[in-house]
Amino acid sequence: MLCFGKIKELRAYLDNNASKGLVLGFVPTMGALHEGHLSLVKESKAKCDVTICSIFVNPTQFNDKKDLERYPRTLESDTKLLESVNCDILFAPEVDEMYPEPDQRKFDFGFLDKTLDGAHRPGHFNGVAQIVSKLFDAVKPHKAFFGLKDYQQVLVVKELVRQLNFDLEIVPCNISREPDGLAMSSRNVLLSKEEREAAAAIPQLMNLAKEKFTGNNKAEVESMILSEIGKNPLFKPDYFEIRNTDDLREYKDGSGEKAIALIALFCGKIRLIDNLFLN
Ligand code: AMP
Repeated sequence: MLCFGKIKELRAYLDNNASKGLVLGFVPTMGALHEGHLSLVKESKAKCDVTICSIFVNPTQFNDKKDLERYPRTLESDTKLLESVNCDILFAPEVDEMYPEPDQRKFDFGFLDKTLDGAHRPGHFNGVAQIVSKLFDAVKPHKAFFGLKDYQQVLVVKELVRQLNFDLEIVPCNISREPDGLAMSSRNVLLSKEEREAAAAIPQLMNLAKEKFTGNNKAEVESMILSEIGKNPLFKPDYFEIRNTDDLREYKDGSGEKAIALIALFCGKIRLIDNLFLN
């Protein structure tokens, strides 16, 4: 695997190879890699000629300083994991490389970045848009792979691509889960043993919501799940909501629209998210 830390060096290499008409697949990550990330790399490997994974803990998308400080950084083992799935190129820049000066850009994704995680993590999606646009400019991929675990992020990135006319395809990828159903996340390693055990209830609650949802009882299911969350003293919910899958606007009972349940909660000090298509 080739490793680059500088945009110029990455570009020099890619420009040399661009003329060969190869399809470039890109998997942006913040590292502390797990099987979920690797599934994206594998999907890129299957669909593209060259796969580039980036590892960059992007400071501008953290609205909580403590979260940024404690975010796991494991570049050495990440490199080995990427080699184990034959990733072709790792791009792992320092902060100064991506932000030679502060990025003052303000994006507006309408309703999309004002709701759910957009409302609970002010500035988060603006930071995501800043780094993703810089990475797309640096890598110039043909396809970029994003996990459906961050469902709202997939919609925001698609809107970013539309607004800035990036000539690339966003490929959404399924959620990888632990054997007990918990969605894989770099933050899971930060959970204590007790918190990790408690977190197994999250996918169970999502499945319960799916089981109870008739297409006509949104409010009832939402309040049932929130009351279940309230029974666990380790949990502090940010939201549990049933929304329209297309644009995350309010799901209307009986509308026949496709619905998705989305959850964000603190398990101890660690914020976890998950989602599940309901119909
Ligand atoms: P992150 O390193 O958390 O920024 O995630 C990098 C990419 O991996 C994003 O597109 C995430 O949606 C995706 N990802 C993270 N966890 C999972 C998972 N459990 N299953 C599938 N994709 C994931």
